[in-house]
Amino acid sequence: MQSISILGATGSIGESTLDVIARHPGLYRVHALSAHSRVPELAVLCQRFRPALAVVGSAAAADELALLLAERRVATEVRWGEAALCEISSAPEVDAVMAAIVGAAGLAPTLAAARAGKKVLLANKEALVMSGQLFMDAVAASGAILLPIDSEHNAVFQCLPRDYRRAPDQHGVARIVLTASGGPFLQRAVETLDNVTPDEAVAHPKWVMGRKISVDSATMMNKGLEVIEAHWLFGAPAERIDVLIHPQSVIHSMVSYVDGSVLAQLGNPDMRTPIAHALAWPARIASGVAPLDLADIAQLQFERPDLQRFPCLKLAYDALRAGGSAAAIMNAANEVAVDAFLNGRIGFRMIDRVIASVLERLPSRPVTDIGGLLEQDAQARETTQELIRA
Ligand code: NAD
Ligand code: MG
Repeated sequence: MQSISILGATGSIGESTLDVIARHPGLYRVHALSAHSRVPELAVLCQRFRPALAVVGSAAAADELALLLAERRVATEVRWGEAALCEISSAPEVDAVMAAIVGAAGLAPTLAAARAGKKVLLANKEALVMSGQLFMDAVAASGAILLPIDSEHNAVFQCLPRDYRRAPDQHGVARIVLTASGGPFLQRAVETLDNVTPDEAVAHPKWVMGRKISVDSATMMNKGLEVIEAHWLFGAPAERIDVLIHPQSVIHSMVSYVDGSVLAQLGNPDMRTPIAHALAWPARIASGVAPLDLADIAQLQFERPDLQRFPCLKLAYDALRAGGSAAAIMNAANEVAVDAFLNGRIGFRMIDRVIASVLERLPSRPVTDIGGLLEQDAQARETTQELIRA
């Protein structure tokens, strides 16, 4: 029986994780659940999964949750704030942590899980993009097991040998190929992108996801973040990580070897597959995902990404090559710009323009500790807000 904490239980990944866990009551027990503000939803999950602890974002939310749980006679203990998130990520009784908070807010608890040597199921790509080497050092020092949930990285992980250890050359790995659906604006005339609405941007053709990652998919900043994520997870330089547009989202990514072999992982686009893979690794369990019917899909298409249409992808490659804090600065600017877009404060194309301006203004600096990293993150957020207000 594995005991699991789920950070971001009310989100899209949290929901899929609980769906898989509920199929295997003999294998997994929920130790703790977290949510930021959706308290009634979290109360329902506590009633169903009976965790020992639940963590929310504020004292007011904690009071509200405690009341709802008392009414339902659920004995879950309620806490709030970042320290409590770090506690449920590192408690001795926890075996695995699903890191599924969106954005930089997930960094501290995800890092706490890594430092505590847990099995870390990493959905929160922003945490790794920001902290890069510091995160990988924490994993190496504690002996934590880092399992990617992002479908592309989970696919690459499945196509690599078990003893890979971030050493492409030792295993004949030539290139890592991340597939991308291209999002909702793959075919739309580029000149009209300035006018797209938040609702159009979050209407992803293949995946149902949270709003932030959906906008990131529309700009392809999501794929940019994933290129950086792949660099840290698999030890490949930017030059050996490719992005390939594949609108059907059936091939989830590939590894190209020096002998000409290309290994791919395929499946229906449903996050329960990578979640079940990581939960059970190295075993396999049923996920509830329908079997893949390739004859029904009939055609798989591929094309190279157009960097004029998707400037965020280029910004991410440039940030990875620049090293230091550039990726963290880019991530922070993106979070602020996407939020401004979703709230109607800026147009869609302003997202990439604002991020480019922030990266021009704030030079990349070496990242040696989390305190320094968070200072640069805060400065990038402030600079982005100033540019948006101007
Ligand atoms: P979501 O918006 O559906 O859910 C986000 C979760 O984080 C919620 O439970 C929310 O309560 C919590 N949260 C939000 N802000 C918080 C804060 N400030 N402090 C603490 N908790 C907070 O997002 P999602 O689509 O589930 O994505 C979660 C993460 O997984 C993201 O990093 C995303 O990039 C990654 N991811 C998602 C998918 C997907 O299919 N949804 C695929 C790959 C990777
Ligand atoms: Mg992905």
